[in-house]
Amino acid sequence: MIRLHDKYFKPFLSEKQILGAIQRMAQEIAVDYKDDTPIFVGVLNGAFMFVSDFLKEYPHSCEVSFVKLSSYQGLTSTGIVETLLDVPDNIEGRSIIILEDIIDTGRTLQKLVHLFSNTKVKEFKIASLFYKAEVYNGEYAIDYVGLEIPDKFIVGYGLDYKELGRNLREVYQLNQKYMINLVLFGKPGAGKGTQAQFLKEKYNLKHISTGDVFRYNIKNGTELGTLAKSYIDKGELVPDEVTIKMLEDEVDKNPDADGFIFDGFPRTTAQAEALDNFLESKDMKVDATIALEANDDILIERLLERGKNSGRSDDQDVSKIRNRFEEYSSKTAPLKDYYEEQHKFHSVNGIGSIDEITQRLTKVIDSL
Ligand code: AMP
Repeated sequence: MIRLHDKYFKPFLSEKQILGAIQRMAQEIAVDYKDDTPIFVGVLNGAFMFVSDFLKEYPHSCEVSFVKLSSYQGLTSTGIVETLLDVPDNIEGRSIIILEDIIDTGRTLQKLVHLFSNTKVKEFKIASLFYKAEVYNGEYAIDYVGLEIPDKFIVGYGLDYKELGRNLREVYQLNQKYMINLVLFGKPGAGKGTQAQFLKEKYNLKHISTGDVFRYNIKNGTELGTLAKSYIDKGELVPDEVTIKMLEDEVDKNPDADGFIFDGFPRTTAQAEALDNFLESKDMKVDATIALEANDDILIERLLERGKNSGRSDDQDVSKIRNRFEEYSSKTAPLKDYYEEQHKFHSVNGIGSIDEITQRLTKVIDSL
């Protein structure tokens, strides 16, 4: 495994496999062009290694030139393809064979075809070392293909991740960890914390309870704790800016997690939107929001019982509990629609034994 910037990549194609594919391509093209002197046009920057190794294998008369286009930024194609080095001069009547390192969606290829469209060349062919057939949606047929590869981000042998990795002799594939990120949803006392304890073990997830983080800060007398206490004591929500920032910090503290259980967050639409944006910026997403449903009488009973043992001030007073329910109904309940629109909302009966409820949750998670 290698690391480039913030990402890990695992070996995918050996130098031998790559050179073997190039040799086959060179032989195939040589048969078609043995009586011609084609101009091979490499597409920079990615194709520089391919062009070099290809030419060493090409047995007949040929010329070489380059064009330079750019479209990738980081891991995803931006869709904007810029011409940085234009078509060579004096190509009228000549056979042009483009040497591309990789063709995926075909956007760069479209731009290339366009670049050469008015050049009155004799022939225009495309040879690509790597080809992602699954995602290619261009109309132009690829004339020569080295290796067909799945739709995974690759680096090495000329290809880069944010400019690193071009010098590698082999090709590596992005090591995408399979993550599950869950939002546990439900009124105070619904059992989110209890269930999170079981789920985090079973699925190897990091449990983040914003309520717990606040209580930890209160206990340690931090500035954040002092601020949060004034709201928590009244059964009100802590302001979004504070809570969102705190949540983001908690996620950032766990860069190696296989996923997260968000418990007690998001509680407002602004928090839900902030969470989506934040996760997206890290190539992550919420996979499911699971609501634990129970009626108010049962919840009040559970909370008062918990208050006796935990000493939580907000669990000992029915009026504070009711205030938390009201906060939930007005600010948090609308999130059901938010996640339903994304087809991520699941509802689970929260009444029953702890084990029964864990099983209901597990069934939902395993079906994702
Ligand atoms: P909990 O332990 O989840 O019941 O949270 C206890 C209290 O912490 C809540 O009543 C709020 O005052 C505060 N709190 C916890 N999570 C949030 C959140 N996501 N947004 C605002 N306030 C929160």
